[in-house]
Amino acid sequence: MKKNFIQRNIIWISLILLCFTVIPGMREKGYALDKEHENEVSKQSIPTDEKKEEKIKVVIDPGHGGYDSGSESTNGKLEKNLNLNISKKVGAILEKNNIEVIYTRTDDNVTWSDDNAEDLLARSEIANESNAKCFVSIHMNFSEEYADEIRGHEVWVNYDNNENVKLAENIISKFKAVSESTDRGIKDQAISPLSLLTFNHIPSVLVEVGFISNEEDSAFIESEDGASKISEAIANGIIAYVNEK
Ligand SMILES: [Zn+2]
Repeated sequence: MKKNFIQRNIIWISLILLCFTVIPGMREKGYALDKEHENEVSKQSIPTDEKKEEKIKVVIDPGHGGYDSGSESTNGKLEKNLNLNISKKVGAILEKNNIEVIYTRTDDNVTWSDDNAEDLLARSEIANESNAKCFVSIHMNFSEEYADEIRGHEVWVNYDNNENVKLAENIISKFKAVSESTDRGIKDQAISPLSLLTFNHIPSVLVEVGFISNEEDSAFIESEDGASKISEAIANGIIAYVNEK
């Protein structure tokens, strides 16, 4: 009898101990599982990456390239290479500002034929398929007759669409801050129709950075400091334009 009594007590004591030790442990574990589940549910109900907005895109078109050298600077530099240098600097600034850059060309190996009309149409095709906010073509100007007198930057637009004008105004206004050369303002492509500005379906401008027939403009454009300042002006103009939208 006494043995049975002790045995029964041991069973009770064991049961009580079980209640205070193992079961609370199980509850903790169960709670932890529930917590995990809660996290899973909340992860499912609030999608994180899916709702991320698409990056703003901008097309940068380094003028000429490949078979087409463009004009030549007073120091014998080819326009196509000067255009590419500035274009890449502009692109780098845009990318730092979270803008996706689509280049019509990134080196001297062009993807189009050596027919000038087809060349320009290929660039317009890139613009029109890009879903970009705007298109900026970068060139250097040239004057054989008035090399010493004529200098400065200008931006060509098609006045048919006011967005082109807004983009041009933004770029011109930033130029004023960095360049001591002449501000030649906005030029209407109706004076001298430009294929790109006629066939592009997104806001587009053609920037003539300066006259490489002029020694002072050439020196500024070809210097590291000048190229950086010009690129900043173009990029900041583009950024101001896309931020306005
Ligand atoms: Zn050109």
